[in-house]
Amino acid sequence: MQALKGTHDILPEEVYKWDYMEGVIRAVCSRYGYKEIRTPIIEATELFQRGIGDTTDVVTKEMYTFKDRGDRSVTLRPENTASAVRAYLEHKMYGDQQVHKMFYIGSMFRYDRPQAGRYREFHQFGLEVLGASSPLADAEVIAMACEIFHRLGLKNLDLHLNSIGDRNCRPAYRQKLIEFFEAKKDQLCEDCRERLYKNPLRILDCKEEGCKKASEGAPEITDYLCEECHNKFEAVKHYLDALGISYTVDPRLVRGLDYYTNTAFEIQYPPLGAQSAVCGGGRYDGLVEEIGGPSTPGIGFAIGLERLLLALDMQNLIPVPAVNKKVYIAALGEDAIAAGFKIQEELRSRHVIADMDLQGRSLKGQMKQAGRMNAVYTIIIGSNELEKGKAVVKTMETGTQQELPFEEVADYIVTEETNSNRL
Ligand code: AMP
Repeated sequence: MQALKGTHDILPEEVYKWDYMEGVIRAVCSRYGYKEIRTPIIEATELFQRGIGDTTDVVTKEMYTFKDRGDRSVTLRPENTASAVRAYLEHKMYGDQQVHKMFYIGSMFRYDRPQAGRYREFHQFGLEVLGASSPLADAEVIAMACEIFHRLGLKNLDLHLNSIGDRNCRPAYRQKLIEFFEAKKDQLCEDCRERLYKNPLRILDCKEEGCKKASEGAPEITDYLCEECHNKFEAVKHYLDALGISYTVDPRLVRGLDYYTNTAFEIQYPPLGAQSAVCGGGRYDGLVEEIGGPSTPGIGFAIGLERLLLALDMQNLIPVPAVNKKVYIAALGEDAIAAGFKIQEELRSRHVIADMDLQGRSLKGQMKQAGRMNAVYTIIIGSNELEKGKAVVKTMETGTQQELPFEEVADYIVTEETNSNRL
């Protein structure tokens, strides 16, 4: 049996890397005032149809959707924004008129074509700010993404920034775009020909060569922004400038759906190649309403953790954790093992890492194992020791040994530890 295509195990030897990334992320989140939210991995399909949009690739082609035993259509979440907004509404968080800042870390599922940096089950860290319409929130969210990368030591990232306007100014732009692409329909891929009337903005970020070429010279949204959207975009840029965060305005960075408004951004790490986007986000002032709630502004982003890990590994930025220092208990014979087992429990309850054989090794084999594990102390209980009711405690570094009554062993090691700091 093998893990499903596009899914992967995170083995015990790798988990420290995830702990490290998540530790840095959590620390930054708490400084910025974000609280964690954990939502179910499975939701009603309709939530994503409405919350992501039923003309997007994610919804039309990539969702893990199936009927449960009660004949309800359910879906493994392809992203977490819709679920976070659902929770915000279900628990009436809007009732307190406050800004809510939430973050999440977890698995997402998309039936995508697997390749380096693209999986069917992948992990995202993301956040959502609900209830804040100020462009300062947009700038703060972007600054926070940059701060996370900075804390992790990642350099050479490119921040792409755009504004996609709002319900007032986007329709005119959309119309211009349709007119522009209608004349070039033959050059578009099949998907984009379909998108032309449903979701023409998406043609701009199609990766097909023909579509890229056809997009050359296309009208740019920044020329169509209404005064309000223009001013908001200028304010976001102004705040980023104030922090010295550099960015490229990229008019091709779009999101096609009505509930996305104003700021859109993406952070790329070019050495990752084809899948270089490590972070994507933007403002979605129409989403809460779309899901059935009161009009509420929102902004958020998500970072792909597998891609972030690849980038960190490429730059050797993940510190290897110190090896745990241990006590090993070597014992032979049932009664000796029982005595050792008791000492092991006492040590563990006093915060000492202790271990003993579970494979029926000989005493010699156990001593070897203590060496392999780089034990700091080895406690030996053979038949002689059992008779005397004493264990041999060997300090591995110096080779010195002494005999101690069983009940004094843990005390001795804990005191030694306080004095010598070996453990
Ligand atoms: P999105 O939710 O599509 O805006 O994606 C946000 C981030 O999640 C991207 O910038 C990627 O880093 C990551 N991501 C999206 N899809 C995948 C995938 N199939 N496999 C791995 N990472 C992904």
